[in-house]
Amino acid sequence: MNICVIGTGYVGLVTGVVFADLGNDVVCVDKLVAKVDGLNKGIMPIYEPGLEEMVARNVADGRLKFTTDLAESVSKSEIIFIAVGTPPREDGSTDLAYVEDAAKGIARALNSYKVIVNKSTVPVGTGNFVREVIETNKRRSVDFDVVSNPEFLREGSAITDTLVPDRIVIGAPNRIVAMRLLELYAPLERPMIITDVASAEMIKYASNAFLATKISFANAIANICEAAGADVNQVVKGMGLDNRIGQAFLSAGIGYGGSCFPKDTRSLLHTAQSYGYEFPLLDATIATNEDQPKRFIKKIHAVMGENLKGKTVGVLGLAFKPNTDDMREAKSLDIIGDLLETGAKVRAYDPIAIENTRSTFPDITYCGNAYEVAAGADALIVVTEWNEFKLLNMERLKSVMADPIIFDGRNIYNTDRMRQLGFQYFAVGRGSAVGSQIPNTVGVREFRFVRAEDAVGV
Ligand code: NAD
Repeated sequence: MNICVIGTGYVGLVTGVVFADLGNDVVCVDKLVAKVDGLNKGIMPIYEPGLEEMVARNVADGRLKFTTDLAESVSKSEIIFIAVGTPPREDGSTDLAYVEDAAKGIARALNSYKVIVNKSTVPVGTGNFVREVIETNKRRSVDFDVVSNPEFLREGSAITDTLVPDRIVIGAPNRIVAMRLLELYAPLERPMIITDVASAEMIKYASNAFLATKISFANAIANICEAAGADVNQVVKGMGLDNRIGQAFLSAGIGYGGSCFPKDTRSLLHTAQSYGYEFPLLDATIATNEDQPKRFIKKIHAVMGENLKGKTVGVLGLAFKPNTDDMREAKSLDIIGDLLETGAKVRAYDPIAIENTRSTFPDITYCGNAYEVAAGADALIVVTEWNEFKLLNMERLKSVMADPIIFDGRNIYNTDRMRQLGFQYFAVGRGSAVGSQIPNTVGVREFRFVRAEDAVGV
C-alpha cells in the first residue's frame, strides 16, 4: 500500500518505519527541514532502541522516504496518517492547530479518494473537525473518509509496542473503511477493536487517564505508608499479584511526566467539564501527581536545610522515564529548578537525555556516569530509574561522596541494605519519612518473602 505519515516524531517516525518494514511504500512528511534533512542522512531526531537500524534498512530497500513536500506525498498515497503533536493549552484543552494545518494541507492536495487516519491523540469530536476542515478546503470534488486509530506506544519501547501492540483500535465511519485499516494491520496478527470514531478517540484518553490514576493511587498509598511505617514497594507487590489489579503502572515515586499522561489527563478533564461533568476522580489523580514532586522536594530540604548554598547535589537521571531522551514534563526539571533556586551546585548524569537538558540548564555540571556525579556530592537524588543505576557499586559510590545521603525518587534500592552500607536513605513511601513516628515493623520484615527476580540489588 502507498502510505503517507504526516509528522515524524516519536509516533509518526516509528509508525512509518514499521509500515515500511511490513512491505508498504511509506513517505514520512515533516515541516521541519532540518529534521527531514537529518533523516535523509540517517540521523535520527529521537532516541528509540532499534529505530536507526530499521530506518536504514527500509530506506536502503527503497520502501521509506522522508520529505517536506506534503502535497506530493498526499497525492501519491491511499492512506494518510496524521501523527502531529497535540500540545496542551493553558486551560488544559488540546491545541489542534497542527492537526488543522495537516488537514488543510491534505485538503489542498486531495486528488482521489483517500482514507485519512488520525493517529495523534485528539479529543472526542476531532474526527468531525478534521472532516469539516478538509471539506471546506478541498479543491476538487473527491470523496474521503476520516478514521481514528489512536496510538498506544510507549517511548523507550516504541518499535516493539508498534510491532506487538496489546490491541489496535480502529474507529471508522463504516465497515468498508474499517476493512482498509484492518488489512494494513493484519500482518501484525494482533487483537483489533473496530468501533465508531468517537469511541476510538475516547478509548485513548480513558486508557491514559486510567493508567495515570493507577500511578496516583500508588503514590497516595505511598504517602500513607510513609507516615505509618509500611513499605509501599511491598504493598503494591502484594496488590499487583491480584490478577484483577495487576502490577503495571502501580509503582510509587515522584509521579508521572512525559508528553502524554499530564496533557491527556488535563485534556480529558477539560472535555468532561465542557459536557458539564466535573470528573472529581481524575481531578484528584492530577492533583496527587502535581503534589508528589513537591512532597519529595520538601523531604530533601527537611534533611539538608532550606538554603543549599555551598552544597553539591548529584542528580541521577534526567529523562521523564528510562530508555528515552524525552524531557517533556520530566520531574528532573522541577527538582533541578528547586536545587538551583535554593543555592545548590548541581551535577547530573543521564545515559541519553543530557543533550536535551543543556538548553534548560546550561550552567549545571554534566557528568559521564553516576560515580562522576557522586564525586564530592553532599547528596544524590535518583530521578529516573535507568537500569544502570540499579546495580551500582554502592561502596564505591559512597567512598567518593562528601556525605552519603541518597534521596531515591523511584524506590529502586533495598532500604535495609542501603542503611547497612551506611547511607542515609530516603525513598518514597517506605517508612523512611522525615518525621515519621513509627519505625519499620521488624516482625513482618523478617518473614517477608521476596521472589528472587523481584529482589533489587544494590
Ligand atoms: P512530536 O512532537 O515528537 O512530533 C510531531 C511532529 O509533527 C514534529 O516533528 C512536527 O514538526 C511535525 N508536524 C507538526 N505539524 C506538521 C505539519 N502540519 N506537517 C508536517 N509535520 C508537522 O510528537 P509525538 O510525541 O510523536 O506525538 C504525536 C501525537 O501522538 C500526539 O498527539 C501525542 O499525544 C500522540 N502520542 C504520543 C505518544 C508518545 O509516546 N510520544 C504515544 C502515543 C500517542
